Amino acid sequence: MIRADFALRHAGQLATMVPAAGDPLGRIRDGALAAREGRVVWIGEDRELESQVTLDGDLLDTQGACVIPGLVDAHTHPVFAGSRADEFAERASGVPYAVQQSEERGIARTVRATREADEPTLLALAQARANRFLANGTTTIEAKTGYGLDLDNEAKLLDVLRKLAGRTPLRVVPTFLGAHVPPPGIDRDLYVRSLIDEMLPAFRPWADFCDAWCEAPAFTAKETRAILTRARSLGYGLRVHAAQLAPGEGPDIAAALEARSADHLEFATPAQIRALAKAGTVAVLCPGANFTTHGPRPPIDAMRQATLPMAIASDLNPGTSNSESLPHAMSLACVQWGMTPVEVLLGATVHAARSLKLDGVAGCLQVGSFADCAILDVETPEAIPYYVGVNRVIATVAGGVTWQPS
Ligand SMILES: [Zn+2]
Repeated sequence: MIRADFALRHAGQLATMVPAAGDPLGRIRDGALAAREGRVVWIGEDRELESQVTLDGDLLDTQGACVIPGLVDAHTHPVFAGSRADEFAERASGVPYAVQQSEERGIARTVRATREADEPTLLALAQARANRFLANGTTTIEAKTGYGLDLDNEAKLLDVLRKLAGRTPLRVVPTFLGAHVPPPGIDRDLYVRSLIDEMLPAFRPWADFCDAWCEAPAFTAKETRAILTRARSLGYGLRVHAAQLAPGEGPDIAAALEARSADHLEFATPAQIRALAKAGTVAVLCPGANFTTHGPRPPIDAMRQATLPMAIASDLNPGTSNSESLPHAMSLACVQWGMTPVEVLLGATVHAARSLKLDGVAGCLQVGSFADCAILDVETPEAIPYYVGVNRVIATVAGGVTWQPS
């Protein structure tokens, strides 16, 4: 008998996301799952559970609900203060996003508000966001800094992320995004030097990944290459904000440096997409930001042709996508871009996990994986994006524990 300290029973459909018998979602009907110390130890049909598993712990009867792996959000900016609701309203009446970026407004405005906020304030804001991620079925997030933009303030944001990880069952994968935009009031060459010489070496113990935004109003191709090359030599995994607002070299740099992810990619060319696929990079698509900035459809067909894995992310941030909901991002990707429900499900689980080097442990349910699940009041996993803008998550399990809001 297999010993377990958590079990979940009677899932109408349990999507393992491990392809089986022609089903890309690898679903089990009337499924069950058992876990010990946060990892799955058994998974199968409910009628076989009792003969194979001894349970000493919590039992969750899902009563026919749909169970999927806890969602994985591969692109979020969860540590910031302040609101930019007025900029959202301006854009709705026709002002372009690029025009809103100045020394006073746009990202610079969030940088100012975030620098002025003390650590407990930022932690409380981030914790509220973590609760909203969990409430919407997400159990793993990639979490970027990038609103401090100097040594002390970026250290403060990394500290907030470290403390957050200790206070929430949400898995937090920290990314250093000192190369978000050049900060106001400092010579940009000096800032790039400080990134390369001071911040990148200092922050290596605190961040798994380094990210850079490669295009105006952020960094040039030359600057991005220098920053990410240094990051790679220090052992960071790489991510690149690339070709979101205009064509550019961001995707080429991501491919050349074998970045784990190239994000946004609205303006990536077919040749760039083939290069990314060859490099083993994941395309992390951000429908929320695309939607509120009225961006063009990313080249989804070229990505399909190149079999470039496509992840779907919330891109939670105060400027273009103030949402912790992956189901909503999945709906947008279907409605706005013509992605299929299966594509967006894979995008918010398996492919997102791959971009975070969590293949096989997050975004799927199998023996040895994290016991992370979202339980939803939907008929099938494919129906999740159909409920546009409505949270159908009944419960979230993280590490074999049913989450309760804190
Ligand atoms: Zn971003």
